[in-house]
Amino acid sequence: MRVDQFMEACHAHPLYGYRHKARSIGAGGDFITAPEISQVFGELIGLWSAVVWETIGRPALLRLVELGPGRGTLMRDALRAGKAMAGFLSAVSVHLVEISEPMRRLQCAALLRSDAGVGHVPAVTWHESLREVPEGPAIVVANEFLDALPIRQLVHDGPSWRERVVALGPGGRLAFAAGGTIELQSDLPTRQGAIVERRAGEDELLAALAARTAPHVALLIDYGPAEPSFGDTLQAVRGHAYVDPLAEPGSADLTSHVQFSALAQKARAAGLAVEGPVTQAEFLGRLGIVERTARLMALNPSRAADLEAATQRLMSPGGMGQLFKALAVRSPTLPAPPAFG
Ligand code: SAH
Repeated sequence: MRVDQFMEACHAHPLYGYRHKARSIGAGGDFITAPEISQVFGELIGLWSAVVWETIGRPALLRLVELGPGRGTLMRDALRAGKAMAGFLSAVSVHLVEISEPMRRLQCAALLRSDAGVGHVPAVTWHESLREVPEGPAIVVANEFLDALPIRQLVHDGPSWRERVVALGPGGRLAFAAGGTIELQSDLPTRQGAIVERRAGEDELLAALAARTAPHVALLIDYGPAEPSFGDTLQAVRGHAYVDPLAEPGSADLTSHVQFSALAQKARAAGLAVEGPVTQAEFLGRLGIVERTARLMALNPSRAADLEAATQRLMSPGGMGQLFKALAVRSPTLPAPPAFG
């Protein structure tokens, strides 16, 4: 089967699919994400959203959409921080696009728990896809969402491009193999072994954004290169370690890098305006992560060392600062959002 079909089966199999696993994100799970590392991440995105709401003209109803909200931590922290902007929270209705049942339950608990510190919780609705989110001005946030969507891999093999497939290898074990030949445009590298990765979910997302008539801004944060690159980036992570993507299907988080230059190009072709990508360190730095962390440290001296280490992890080149990028995609009628202009 094609690599995207294999990834989809690993995610979605009714019995063995990874999406049925509740404890995937966090210290006791398989991988950790920025909002789970530091509350400052979601808070800054909440403030960013409130400023974007102002630039849209403070609409009375704003759809605050999150794609793949995981444990709901980012949205909880964003809403808590959004209280600082008068009028923002009363305009917001929250739309969570999530296909995993266990994740939906975690999101519900994070947002509706009485000690979540959000205060007035706006209405929350769950959806299967962005297409289901009703019309109206919207801010769409996606952190580590695109990397989880299946990719096809096309391998340059001799004179032609061929579909990379998952097949039965020696001893009945799964193995990668070269499948049928594919016609690709000619500006791609012709180096033997070069791999082009194609993610149809990106095209669907961009088409769903472009189909919205009311003003909208999307913030897409993920890991991957800003410049085109042509290698195999499929990875599987279990218990915070890299494992063989073909071993024990469905038991590990299967992802691949986001190719930001291709994504930006596709967004422009869909009629959307694009800013970035900028590195996560640039994005969070411009939003004031250093000042916000210093303030939190002063307020919570006993947690100061942890807060500082968490910010360091989000910002450092060896941590997430450089590999992770932020891209803004918006209605062409709006100005560039904060931290991108
Ligand atoms: N944004 C969160 C979680 C990232 S993990 C964080 O930063 O912590 C990826 C998330 O996307 C999970 O919640 C997963 O269940 C969800 N997901 C994966 N594929 C999806 C799809 N096709 N549609 C909606 N949600 C999806």
